[in-house]
Amino acid sequence: MPTNPLSMQRITLHSSATQPSLDIGCAEIRQWHINKGWRDIGYHWVIKRDGTLEQGRPMHQTGAHVKGQNRHNIGICLIGGVNEHHHPENNFTTPQWQTLKTTLTLLCDQYQLPKSKIQGHNTLNPNTACPSFNVTKYLTLNLEP
Ligand SMILES: [Zn+2]
Repeated sequence: MPTNPLSMQRITLHSSATQPSLDIGCAEIRQWHINKGWRDIGYHWVIKRDGTLEQGRPMHQTGAHVKGQNRHNIGICLIGGVNEHHHPENNFTTPQWQTLKTTLTLLCDQYQLPKSKIQGHNTLNPNTACPSFNVTKYLTLNLEP
């Protein structure tokens, strides 16, 4: 039974954990996830290095991006997030930050979510560094309540 798109109740931010020189997008991640045996890309939205927003999994389908916590949870992935040694690094581009802000504003409007419903993957799973930046601090500095 498909998830009612209006029932989305939170947003989780991710990084692709790829180096900044890797200019990938939805198509590549979809292939990785299908190779893992998933039905489709796990994220609903992907933000490329140049700031392009791409739709991944349709919003009326439950995503696959936080183990055990995917229901009613919108997944957004920023491309980048690790350095040349594959260590977590906040290396996202200005266009990515601009797209993230407009996308979050639109989604919060559409689903009537307060910004307290936006979290980083590492808030839900302390064992990951994803999305490689401090989401709480980002929200405080960039988004209206
Ligand atoms: Zn993640």
